[in-house]
Amino acid sequence: MATKKQTAQVITPEMAKIPAGPLEKKWTNYKDHQKLVNPANKRRLDVIVVGTGLAGASAAASLAEMGFNVLNFCIQDSPRRAHSIAAQGGINAAKNYQNDGDSVYRLFYDTIKGGDYRAREANVYRLAEVSNSIIDQCVAQGVPFAREYGGLLDNRSFGGAQVSRTFYAKGQTGQQLLLGAYSALSRQIGKGKVKMYNRHEMLDVVVIRDENGESRARGIIARNLVTGRIERYFGHAVVVATGGYGNAFFLSTNAMASNGSAAMQMYRHGAYFANPCYAQIHPTCIPKHGDFQSKLTLMSESLRNDGRIWVPKKLEDAQRLQRGEIKGRDIPEEDRDYYLERRYPAFGNLVPRDVASRAAKERCDKGYGVNNTGLAVFLDFSDAIQRLGKDVVEAKYGNLFQMYEKIVDENPYEEPMMIFPAIHYTMGGIWVDYELQTSVKGLFCIGEANFSDHGANRLGASALMQGLADGYFVLPYTIQNYLSDQIGVPRMSTDLPEFAEAEKGITEKIEKLMAVQGNRSVDSIHKELGLVMWDFVGMGRTAESLKTAVEKIDAIKKEFWSNVYIPGEANSLNNELEKALRLADFIEIGRLMAVDALNREESCGGHFREEYQTPEGEAMRQDDKFSYVACWKYTGEDSEPELIKEPLDYEFTERKTRNYKS
Ligand SMILES: Cc1cc2nc3c(=O)[nH]c(=O)nc-3n(C[C@H](O)[C@H](O)[C@H](O)COP(=O)(O)OP(=O)(O)OC[C@H]3O[C@@H](n4cnc5c(N)ncnc54)[C@H](O)[C@@H]3O)c2cc1C
Repeated sequence: MATKKQTAQVITPEMAKIPAGPLEKKWTNYKDHQKLVNPANKRRLDVIVVGTGLAGASAAASLAEMGFNVLNFCIQDSPRRAHSIAAQGGINAAKNYQNDGDSVYRLFYDTIKGGDYRAREANVYRLAEVSNSIIDQCVAQGVPFAREYGGLLDNRSFGGAQVSRTFYAKGQTGQQLLLGAYSALSRQIGKGKVKMYNRHEMLDVVVIRDENGESRARGIIARNLVTGRIERYFGHAVVVATGGYGNAFFLSTNAMASNGSAAMQMYRHGAYFANPCYAQIHPTCIPKHGDFQSKLTLMSESLRNDGRIWVPKKLEDAQRLQRGEIKGRDIPEEDRDYYLERRYPAFGNLVPRDVASRAAKERCDKGYGVNNTGLAVFLDFSDAIQRLGKDVVEAKYGNLFQMYEKIVDENPYEEPMMIFPAIHYTMGGIWVDYELQTSVKGLFCIGEANFSDHGANRLGASALMQGLADGYFVLPYTIQNYLSDQIGVPRMSTDLPEFAEAEKGITEKIEKLMAVQGNRSVDSIHKELGLVMWDFVGMGRTAESLKTAVEKIDAIKKEFWSNVYIPGEANSLNNELEKALRLADFIEIGRLMAVDALNREESCGGHFREEYQTPEGEAMRQDDKFSYVACWKYTGEDSEPELIKEPLDYEFTERKTRNYKS
């Protein structure tokens, strides 16, 4: 592996456009002084929004409502089928309806701490600040949040918090929120302010130099997935909201179409890729059960409100469970090890995801796993059923229990569920400044696709909060600061050479892929990549494993480009071609994740380098060396990326070792 280049370049707070002033005044000050676009000029500006998940749909609807002309793209046959629809457990906000001591500051603090002090303070504070408006907005749209008997909105607890601040709609919160955003979007489609392009996949961003030599995003190239036609679209600005890249691991809880391709397209045009190694492994997923599986299923974190996690205390009990000789219920109470309650008395089963996942791995590595592979722990509701009654448990989590029973064929009201960690979310993503603008002018990135506000570990129920904060409340302001300078820029023709050049690049890539006609299916190569990612860039990483990963991924790349088989035609519906184009980018992302993880010689949040742990197996940060956002800059197909650092200064919080014990 060639050694990485390291530049002295550093991103200063001014470059990240972080407003000066006290933390709680930064966003207000920004809004008071930003430049605006007047209504008549808004009508003359076109904005491309790629993605219709919670981030994209809320942004497209809001920008159109404000008067901009929006072109909105998604892969699915309807915007409401975006991956966000899968979100189960809830959305955080600092309303303090429970009167349990919550506040904007506490949500900010929990998020900074949960992210292991690797997020930008100003962004996180703004997120906590707008969280309450999100709930008001969604209630006004008719989102049916759960309510208490008296009619007030109900809350539950998620990991990493000692208050109840999670708003929910049964186990279908994402679906209900997306239907809200989709209604707002549909209103604008009906009014002609949003032109919707379903079944269109962005394959490149078009960047054009202005008269001052400044590169600006001016459009996209998309493939019509039904006809296979390559099409060109112009926009005065481009907003990318294409979600996370967890499917680099092949098996993940993400939707099958979730991909990281748009992020890689931006990266190749100069947008920095920040902290790619920060991937979240969720502790409560249904364990893998076979080699022909293409997806893992999440059991929502909300279940940890009432479910207790345990494994047997005795190795011989675990072995009998693994051989199928006994069931979980056969093990008496005194022989159960509620290891999270034992290790983390203050937070118990509600420790953050990274902590819970590692603790499960530790028990399974020591032989205490409870299913036939030894890779599972119990999530048990018997206490809750006794305390609350089956009806109450069913009312809270009914659809999740039903889903579990359908997949595992075991009744979770009678037998404890079996769960195991799985890839779930990516905190890393495209670097954005305070305005959510990438390092390419006019190119914005929102939702899970950006490197966002979660540092090295996201707290449960904070992704929906961030996606909707970006789309409803942040971008609609900040994009105006950029567009106010663009009011004199006329709509550009898509016949310009830059559009033609970008289209040519795509056509050649597709022709190259179609010409291989090798022996391997796209999925078989993707599975191979996924195994490498899980084994060498997964829950526990070492310098050695990461170097091996880079070598193996390079070999997979060669195999892909010389031996993949794509049936059918390029100029018609072709699912295999779609998957191949995405896999080409997953291979590059996987490598970038390994390179970043190798560079970060510390453990923080979801990034656990085995060389850096306390004697008790807890993550050990190296603040003096790694308190920065690692921004990777593309330098060409065959050369190593450059590292640019954005130092993280903690002005308003004191960096501490995370403690969930007391
Ligand atoms: C099973 C599950 C449960 C979850 N539960 C919760 C929860 O309870 N609370 C919480 O806060 N978070 C939860 N999350 C995380 C949360 O769902 C996601 O982080 C969030 O929905 C991402 O939203 P998004 O708008 O950024 O992207 P997505 O919802 O992933 O949407 C991406 C959009 O981009 C489009 N797209 C992608 N690539 C292209 C392209 N190249 N061209 C055109 N369009 C493209 C897609 O069609 C889609 O419309 C959960 C995640 C999973 C997997």
